[in-house]
Amino acid sequence: MDTEKTQSILQLLSTPGKPSPNPRPLSSFSHSHKISKPKHKYQSHPTISYFRSISSRRVHTPEPELPCESPQTFQPYNRTQLLSRIQSFNSNGGIGPLGFKIPLTPLDISRNGWSCIHRNQIRCVSCHTVFHLKFPDLESFSKSMNFGGDEIDEEYYEAVIQGLCEKYKLELIESHGKNCPWRKIQTPKNCYDLNVDAKYLDNYKIQVREIHDVNIKTKYIEDEDILIKWCDENDVKYDNIDILKLVLLGWKPIQLPNGLLLSCGSCGRRFITTDEEIDLIDQHNDWCCFNTSYPKVLEFMKSLFKKETTDGYESEDDIKTLQRLDKLRKIIF
Ligand SMILES: [Zn+2]
Ligand SMILES: [Zn+2]
Repeated sequence: MDTEKTQSILQLLSTPGKPSPNPRPLSSFSHSHKISKPKHKYQSHPTISYFRSISSRRVHTPEPELPCESPQTFQPYNRTQLLSRIQSFNSNGGIGPLGFKIPLTPLDISRNGWSCIHRNQIRCVSCHTVFHLKFPDLESFSKSMNFGGDEIDEEYYEAVIQGLCEKYKLELIESHGKNCPWRKIQTPKNCYDLNVDAKYLDNYKIQVREIHDVNIKTKYIEDEDILIKWCDENDVKYDNIDILKLVLLGWKPIQLPNGLLLSCGSCGRRFITTDEEIDLIDQHNDWCCFNTSYPKVLEFMKSLFKKETTDGYESEDDIKTLQRLDKLRKIIF
């Protein structure tokens, strides 16, 4: 994305009613843009007025009379509560223009104490402030930006949406009630990441043993042989290798009448499987912790492998036993 262009749009959005100090004609943003109308007409266009009104409008509804439920709901280091807030985006409609990926994720918003209550509406779990996020859809935006037949391209729309997201990111902190504790502390990013240790592997074993009758076809994962070897060394019984990969990548299978549902408890992604090969990595949201954590799990498993000697014997104990037996053989025979 052209940084200058985004900056100009942000400037426009942040100065309601005033022209930017160094206005550039939109046609100079990029050679692909075809808008080149005089500035005065552009400034008074209904769409520009619309965005200015978004910028100046009060988009959140504080409810200062309500007490903050801080002790129960303000637990910024509680991963389970963070995941519950993330899941609310999946259950209640999510955010952004429909069918359009935006640079403001449920993780970004949930880390600031917000849960999703309806599409493009979030509410603070502690101060109960409701925040409406407004996004124009591409079709109506294109229509309203059509200055007498000139076309608008998608890149410009993306820049506007990106500008709105940048604005909303700042407002995620400022929009809390005056005394809300989420104004001061947000859930740290590392609280969302998986803690890969011995306890994590114990839990991995339990989950693998609990899954039966799941037959799916999954795409090859680099170093998946490490997974198989670790399970063999640790006596983990499993129905098939696809189950090992399913648990490694954080997917929980649920058998429904219309097929097998796979859901991720960390990013909220869920889908019904088909006969086609499944890419267990690609199916997560790109910000999901499993995308970055599963190689760490494999690395940790590898570090725990029993050491093999050059003779092919597995442990030092094996070698010592063999040496003792060899000595005994020489004495007796
Ligand atoms: Zn709040
Ligand atoms: Zn996920």
